[in-house]
Amino acid sequence: MRASASVLHLDLDAFFASVEQRDKPSLAGRPVVVGGVGGRGVVATASYEARALGVHSAMGTGQARHLAPHAAYLATRFEAYRESSRIVMALLGELSPLVEPLSIDEAFVDLAAGGRDTSPEALAALVEGLRREITERTEGLHASVGVGSSKFIAKLASESAKPDGSRIIAPGREPDFIAPMSVRAIPGIGPATTEKLSRLGIRTVAELREASPRELVRELGRAVGEYVHGIAFAQDDRPVAPRGEAKSISVEDTFEQDITESAAVAEVIAADARLVAVRLARAGLFARTVTVKARMADFSTVSRSRTLLGATDHPERIAAVAQGLAGAIDPRGGVRLLGVGVSNFTQAAQEELFEVDDAEPAAGRLVRHDEAAPSVTVRHPEAGFPPGMDVEHDEWGRGWVWGSGHGIVTVRFEHRGGPVGPVRSLRADDPLLHRAGLLPLAAAVPEDDEDDGHGPGWARRMRDLGAARVPSEDARPSPGESARTVHN
Ligand SMILES: [Mg+2]
Repeated sequence: MRASASVLHLDLDAFFASVEQRDKPSLAGRPVVVGGVGGRGVVATASYEARALGVHSAMGTGQARHLAPHAAYLATRFEAYRESSRIVMALLGELSPLVEPLSIDEAFVDLAAGGRDTSPEALAALVEGLRREITERTEGLHASVGVGSSKFIAKLASESAKPDGSRIIAPGREPDFIAPMSVRAIPGIGPATTEKLSRLGIRTVAELREASPRELVRELGRAVGEYVHGIAFAQDDRPVAPRGEAKSISVEDTFEQDITESAAVAEVIAADARLVAVRLARAGLFARTVTVKARMADFSTVSRSRTLLGATDHPERIAAVAQGLAGAIDPRGGVRLLGVGVSNFTQAAQEELFEVDDAEPAAGRLVRHDEAAPSVTVRHPEAGFPPGMDVEHDEWGRGWVWGSGHGIVTVRFEHRGGPVGPVRSLRADDPLLHRAGLLPLAAAVPEDDEDDGHGPGWARRMRDLGAARVPSEDARPSPGESARTVHN
């Protein structure tokens, strides 16, 4: 905890969905769901209008369609998201040399390192100026901002200000700010710890503060007990640190009671694979290697990997490979921890004609997979007209794909900054119909801008760091699991 409120946390509101609403005038104020649009796809971001209907990220698109049948379901347009992300991150870079991106739409900024005045009046002006500038330069996106004396407080402050708000927690006010919050608001406290605390009669941070440190250590173990006791008093000294390139993304579950049945293993692997795929999609990355990790009751760790010749971000594909790897785990002796990871990233999906297998050295042996036939991906992202895609018609002008199938493409002819446009159905092979690039933002930051004061490759690292973090709603373990940790 610092003496002044000098850590800023910024998070763009419903980022992917907001970009789509901005670029597609007819979707303003309407429920929009962005992500995998197929029957087995997964939601990456839902607009606030869709959230009001119960849709949230990491939910299956099928379930979302059930909850919000009239929402617009759009495939991701990463180029557009990166363009706006670069503008926002460059703006943060103007505030301070110490910017720590957490994902494509979220970052910490060390205001002290930027020599910023952190007096209350100056901070309020800085935050409102920043939010205004972001909306202006991105032509309509909104950010929520929190400022506090630590990362922990800044992040909770921006969460409490969402959407389109800001909150500054003055030094000394941190304990009051967090006191009424549920212990679940504390990062690292999952359902298992929540349950243990609840058995002690502790549900809020204020109640946690009254517990004796000795009791917490006895009930939760030394590491967790000391951590929660400290954080209840807002003690958090983590520095804002620009991070290296994300090399892998993984999700792990630690169980309160060891798993001993294959069906339970399969269930956890399926859930983890889905979360990993959502994070890949949010980062705009595709992975070639899938890894499954298991820690057994005797604390031995088994790690198995498989490298595909192609690269995928498809949840079903990742889940299928992970299930294949997990199939060799014999859970009868008890499994304490299970995780799914992906690595070996590329920026584009690659058609997969056949596969090679490999095993991590830790596995101690080469693992062969005996699939009868080489598998072929059916997804060709470069082909067809996914919903949401930008198109241009020589006669009708600019528009976006509303839907397609049976040789017909339905296009709404409208674009950012223009009026709501008409919908027309065209033949998919209409020679006048083309895919279109982005309609660039006036404030766009060049992708390969190396001379931005952050050193070479900064823009690329920023882009790659889209992988760095799962949105908080995804990080929450599902019921019955003890704790889920997310790595990159
Ligand atoms: Mg966000």
